[in-house]
Amino acid sequence: MSLLDHPSEAQSGMKIVCEVCGNLSIKPIDPANAGDAAPVHCRRCNAVRGTVADLRALARQSTDDFEF
Ligand SMILES: [Zn+2]
Repeated sequence: MSLLDHPSEAQSGMKIVCEVCGNLSIKPIDPANAGDAAPVHCRRCNAVRGTVADLRALARQSTDDFEF
């Protein structure tokens, strides 16, 4: 378990909090149409927050906050 001592988001390129505006929300994506490399955008300022693949990886790690 020692590898899990420090909560790390570095593994994923997904930014949970927008670096530009500090918002937590992302624009909804359509998993049927969005490939893994499709960008995920900030809901507020439209900055790229990561990719669909990042989002999926994140959703696998934490069952908390992300709704599809
Ligand atoms: Zn933003």
